[in-house]
Amino acid sequence: MRRKIVAGNWKMNGSKDLAEKLVGYVRSEAGSLDNGVEVVIIPPAIYISDVVAQAAGDLAVGVQNVSGWQAGAYTGEVSSGMAVDQGCGYALVGHSERRQLFGETDEVVADKVARVLGDGLVAIVCVGETLEQREAGDAEAVVAAQIERGLAKVEVSQWERVVVAYEPVWAIGTGKTATSEDAQAMHASIRKVLEGIGAPSKDVSVLYGGSVKADNAAALFAEPDIDGGLIGGASLIAEDFVSICRAM
Ligand code: PGA
Repeated sequence: MRRKIVAGNWKMNGSKDLAEKLVGYVRSEAGSLDNGVEVVIIPPAIYISDVVAQAAGDLAVGVQNVSGWQAGAYTGEVSSGMAVDQGCGYALVGHSERRQLFGETDEVVADKVARVLGDGLVAIVCVGETLEQREAGDAEAVVAAQIERGLAKVEVSQWERVVVAYEPVWAIGTGKTATSEDAQAMHASIRKVLEGIGAPSKDVSVLYGGSVKADNAAALFAEPDIDGGLIGGASLIAEDFVSICRAM
């Protein structure tokens, strides 16, 4: 039941042209992947329909953020129902950039997770500690609290659509990756926390993110509790992204 997933988070990058060329290439290569990996492309919301068209059902598509509200007078917001309507199967929730730059608290994350799951999407819920928190020895406690609070509203029947992405903040976009051993230790700890909140922890996919590249992906993915990756920068380079998908 635990899925292997490689998801490319484009952040606020990309264009119609990239949607066409990169997704077309990834799709053509994905046919020869024989490792059972689910490939997910997560472009800016405005390009979702372009990416869905290129993915042609062979690749999954996700939305980077959704509103906590269902519909109505919320100018600039996009709902999870709209993401479903456009062909998305996944939604990122609580990426550290959302938490740090847009003030998303664990409570906001919990509301969005409930919304996303209620609308039938798979929620990729991002957690991770800052460098300061890691150096203070608090990394596991910080991540545990993010999971306990952010997943507080998940219903028993919804766990099969919950994916956790461990992304140490100090590793995102910095070129610094957690060692495979450190990442594995955190993933094992995440599974214990999930068990503690009643999740079927062995069946929940836990992805690693933070400067995953073509040359370090295989070592990370070889760890027993790492079920794939959430890829930022390297997901914008077609060949690199495909190499990472192959490393799974
Ligand atoms: P990065 O980003 O791969 O560029 O470090 C990962 C992420 O933020 O999801």
